[in-house]
Amino acid sequence: MSAIIETHGLGKEFVRGQFRIESLLNIDTTIEKGEFVALMGPSGSGKSTLLHVIAAMDRPTSGQIHVLGKDLGHLSDRELAAWRNQHVGFVFQSFNLIPVLTALENVEIPLRLTNLSRSERRQHAATALNLVGLQDRTDHYPRQLSGGQEQRVSIARAIATDPDLILADEPTGNLDAASAKDALRLLEKLNRDFGKTIVMVTHDSHAARYASKVRHLEKGVLLPEGTLPDEWGDSSDTTEGTWLHSSRG
Ligand code: ADP
Ligand code: MG
Repeated sequence: MSAIIETHGLGKEFVRGQFRIESLLNIDTTIEKGEFVALMGPSGSGKSTLLHVIAAMDRPTSGQIHVLGKDLGHLSDRELAAWRNQHVGFVFQSFNLIPVLTALENVEIPLRLTNLSRSERRQHAATALNLVGLQDRTDHYPRQLSGGQEQRVSIARAIATDPDLILADEPTGNLDAASAKDALRLLEKLNRDFGKTIVMVTHDSHAARYASKVRHLEKGVLLPEGTLPDEWGDSSDTTEGTWLHSSRG
């Protein structure tokens, strides 16, 4: 295995007026090619910020990040955008599909920035939709699709350019249990059968079970592997079960 993501002393600070928010603090970590990592942590702990920095959608304010061997700190905004389009697929909680475009046209968007011909683009987009099981929905608009189908279109869009890395920010957050399972199985398949490296932010411990590794963020700090945040015990299923049990009769 080789590192696909490597960070050294990575930090991100936001300045709002007189306030400084340390969203990420001194993160040193490595994610290997082919891993499926679930990133967990309370709201505001920096999960989305870390995903955005890995995706080159945002720049760190300190430290270094190498993704696929590239030092992202040395690329211009223009180079970053091109790099991201080629190497990273991003899946959002709220799908972020364009309402006036069909499923196929939505999946084609990242391909517009490549050198492919129009017919090749159509073909690649159709292949991606086929892979997520939506070959019979190519001409549907987002409003004609269920939430679960919309998220599968957005996963197809994320894989259209055949990127090495898939980043997903709470991909099941807006889905019912059955659709969430479909989306997670799809990510699992992309990891297992297509060798995609996946980093998925989730609040849901059921979703995290699909990953091969779970990492926790707390107040911008990435906890060492195998460590759980302090409050974890209080909110676990076991505690709730015990409480329900002891409150009976
Ligand atoms: P999470 O995804 O774990 O809920 P975020 O990464 O979104 O957390 O946010 C981490 C912290 O950084 C929060 O305190 C948040 O308010 C702050 N933050 C995130 N994005 C911005 C921004 N664009 N401007 C200012 N503060 C931000
Ligand atoms: Mg977030």
